Amino acid sequence: MDLLFHALVGAIIGELSPKNIEKRQLKGALGGISPDIANLITYPYLGIAIGNPIPYATPSDFYANPWIVDHWSYVPWEITHSLLFWGLVIMPLLYYFKISKLIGLGYFSHIILDLPSHTGIWSSVPLYPSNIMFEGWFDAWAWPLSDILFWSLFPFILWRILAYLRGIDTAFLRWPSEEKFARREA
Ligand SMILES: [Zn+2]
Repeated sequence: MDLLFHALVGAIIGELSPKNIEKRQLKGALGGISPDIANLITYPYLGIAIGNPIPYATPSDFYANPWIVDHWSYVPWEITHSLLFWGLVIMPLLYYFKISKLIGLGYFSHIILDLPSHTGIWSSVPLYPSNIMFEGWFDAWAWPLSDILFWSLFPFILWRILAYLRGIDTAFLRWPSEEKFARREA
């Protein structure tokens, strides 16, 4: 998916998390966009390699240069989108440095959402370094801005509905850790 969609799904995960986690929506969103940090290598590299005036590549540049998937600059993307990397590197690091696991949950949602939204040679390799590809159904990574904004409306609306329900302390969305707080308020 695109960054905005990932951030919004992360915010939803944060919204649904226990309220005692500070800035939980932000942490969820941050985790949700984290795997695409690898794009900071891949996109500028391709942009420079093909001589774009701005050192950045567009989706059509990627389509015109399929060799990029076999280039070293594409490997960081495959690493950060691997469930093995998530489980064996990201989560242990979060535990070790006592960083909120919510970021790891947002990160996980990104890998899962990218499975259906990358097709053909652009497919995810969710068990990298194993090269088994997961064939997706559509190419959200190459969407124009209009599609990004349109499809992001859905997680945005869902997030705001959930934020409202959490705000009025709806019982079925309440965590056990929030029970005492709710009773004191009553
Ligand atoms: Zn991604």
